[in-house]
Amino acid sequence: MKLDKFLIKYAEIGVKGKNRYLFEDKLVYNIKTALSKIDGEYKVRKTEGRIYVECLSSFDNDEVVETLKTVFGIVGICPLLQITDEGFDDLSAKVVNFIDETYDKKDFTFKVMARRSRKNYPLNSMEINEELGGRILDAFPDLKVDVHKPEVYINVEIRERINIYSKVIPGPGGMPVGTAGSAMLLLSGGIDSPVAGYMVAKRGVKIDAVYFHAPPYTSERAKQKVVDLARIVSRYSGPIRLHIVNFTDCQLKIYEGCPHDQLTIIMRRYMMKIAEHFAKEKGNLGLVTGESIGQVASQTMQSMAVTNEVCTMPVYRPLVAMDKQDIIDISEKIGTYETSVLPYEDCCTIFVAKHPVTKPNLVSIKKSESHIEEAMEELVKVAIETTEVIDVEF
Ligand code: ATP
Ligand code: MG
Repeated sequence: MKLDKFLIKYAEIGVKGKNRYLFEDKLVYNIKTALSKIDGEYKVRKTEGRIYVECLSSFDNDEVVETLKTVFGIVGICPLLQITDEGFDDLSAKVVNFIDETYDKKDFTFKVMARRSRKNYPLNSMEINEELGGRILDAFPDLKVDVHKPEVYINVEIRERINIYSKVIPGPGGMPVGTAGSAMLLLSGGIDSPVAGYMVAKRGVKIDAVYFHAPPYTSERAKQKVVDLARIVSRYSGPIRLHIVNFTDCQLKIYEGCPHDQLTIIMRRYMMKIAEHFAKEKGNLGLVTGESIGQVASQTMQSMAVTNEVCTMPVYRPLVAMDKQDIIDISEKIGTYETSVLPYEDCCTIFVAKHPVTKPNLVSIKKSESHIEEAMEELVKVAIETTEVIDVEF
């Protein structure tokens, strides 16, 4: 049975009190936007605290489901049979037919879950459960009722119309993008930062991004890789405005003027400063990085404290307590892994010291910076002025 409607389940946003409609409207809008990218005509509507997707033209079921799986805020996607109320006998026949066509093997355990939000229906929920359960058993004698741990829930919702569904395909969860302000992601070509962007977007945060490019030490292909990563993340997060900063002169100056074991930290501090500039310009509420405690020398608690010290904005590090393998698992799931592991050089790896400090001292770092401060002021200004901006969209 090819069903042409989906019931969209959303959990977390259901509990937002008076703001609930804002969240729902955003979710509806985001679903519409996502579906507009694939073939077919769709109607997305919200009624009685429910969101429905209706396919109005021919459509590819898998493509619709895969698309809905990219929309944060959705916890379940339920292929739906919606019928008008033509009496209980008609309902029973349609439910039996629904089971017949949905399941090849009729040997599972089930439970009927009736909900009656229209109270003038002649049977109450308990009566529907019992009566419908009996008719299903009559039709398929190998099925069994299990009220505690059924393999299949046959959901029947008596509303203006009647909803019948049994499959709940998991959605991505989270909150609709755009309901939680915006942040500036420091996006490199690595594995971690695209995952970090995905994770904050999942909490409803709209993201923009900044990439520090160091031509000719880093190639056009390295830059293209970051654009490609931004594009994959934008499938979930919506459009991303990507700022590409030419960081070469800044890096050369740091390289020339500072102790080499402090290079990474000082470079990181300037990256943060520049990222914060764009974040303020865009009205973002924070910065986001892909750092994780202890992963490398620049990500010890001491290093991150020293890096943080240059900015006044909150720095969000959604991967801070995650192991590398767990981060890799997410990157594989969201489709960034293959691009992230392409072997193009990164601006940080080129100017990196053999033995970077792992416990930098802020006073000592500031002292080193003071030698290049004046020159850096100008170089940072130029880097900001010459930044290339690309709008990336899936
Ligand atoms: P990633 O996999 O995200 O590159 P990483 O493990 O390689 O992370 P680092 O290179 O130490 O770690 O970078 C830490 C964080 O700093 C990155 O997650 C990213 O947020 C930011 N960052 C590093 N290099 C750049 C860059 N060239 N442009 C923008 N942000 C960067
Ligand atoms: Mg990196």
